[in-house]
Amino acid sequence: MERTDVNTLGEFGLIEHLTRDFPLRQPSTIKGVGDDAAVIDNGGLCTVVSTDMLVEGIHFDLAYVPLKHLGYKSVVVNLSDIYAMNAFPRQITVSIAISNRFSVEALDELYAGIRAACDTYGVDLVGGDTSSSPKGLTISVTAIGQCEKEKLVYRSGAKAGDLICITGDLGGAYLGLQLLEREKRIWQENPGVQPDLEGQKYAIGRQLKPEARKDMIETFRQNGLKPTAMIDVSDGLASDLFHICKQSKVGALLEESGVPIHQEAQLLALKFKLDPITCALNGGEDYELLFTIDPKDVEKVRFLPDIYIAGEILEAKDGIKLNTKGGNLHDLKAQGWVHF
Ligand code: ADP
Ligand code: MG
Repeated sequence: MERTDVNTLGEFGLIEHLTRDFPLRQPSTIKGVGDDAAVIDNGGLCTVVSTDMLVEGIHFDLAYVPLKHLGYKSVVVNLSDIYAMNAFPRQITVSIAISNRFSVEALDELYAGIRAACDTYGVDLVGGDTSSSPKGLTISVTAIGQCEKEKLVYRSGAKAGDLICITGDLGGAYLGLQLLEREKRIWQENPGVQPDLEGQKYAIGRQLKPEARKDMIETFRQNGLKPTAMIDVSDGLASDLFHICKQSKVGALLEESGVPIHQEAQLLALKFKLDPITCALNGGEDYELLFTIDPKDVEKVRFLPDIYIAGEILEAKDGIKLNTKGGNLHDLKAQGWVHF
């Protein structure tokens, strides 16, 4: 029998490959694999479901991630997927696999973070599973949300002429990670040296304590705004814009000058000899929302806080392009993160 390395397909290719022979049989399954969350119709009100798994050594390093922050973040990244459907999360389940390295006190810390997220976002912890693991910690969270059928927003609804919008600064979480990795290396080489993270609260905060944009979904409701397509920025702006374009069968023109990047992220990028826009495009983990709106709605968003217009949707044949600050047009490449 042939043996194909999973790396030949990449993460998204592998998901497509594994799920290709699963036709949807249930009329209540409105959306299966391929968006931020699945959608199930309960007769008017829909249930929206999303799962994410965080694995020690792949998604987090306990050398610099406090367990409480890890608990918080593992919930937030799932809630973010529910908001990305224009829905509101209501419940979560949490499953953990733990090695005997973890004490009850350590797990209490993890759950203090999970509780803080439940309090902040008003969701209930309603179940999960607990298992032992030979090594390390794995956390899997499932978020369950609700939305009226007509208010759901998919990745597939963008049309040529729509405007591309972003809800906040990008690249910060990636730079926070670079900073934490660098301090870890220094600490490993010189165990006496205390980490020097003073003045880097912004980037570290973006990495260790991300928030999901519940406030934006509320803003959309209050202003009668329904994006035509939406995704949360988990893999990096480029990769996530690609997902919208692929599912919507459109192209895009992204304006570098329209991509919001925090001043501290700009400075930090320069310190690391990185281009800030590269961090925004390929960094990921910012958990802002990337969405498109019909141009007739531009007046509705113009005066709303935290909405940055960063480009336009094009026909598919026009490709996916970046217009740099220098006025050069590049093909946008979706690198994102491949976790294998
Ligand atoms: P996100 O980044 O929004 O969390 P992912 O990229 O993880 O989304 O997943 C993309 C889609 O593929 C989602 O619809 C998800 O439910 C689905 N998916 C991911 N892994 C699997 C799997 N092993 N089996 C079935 N569906 C999967
Ligand atoms: Mg997502």
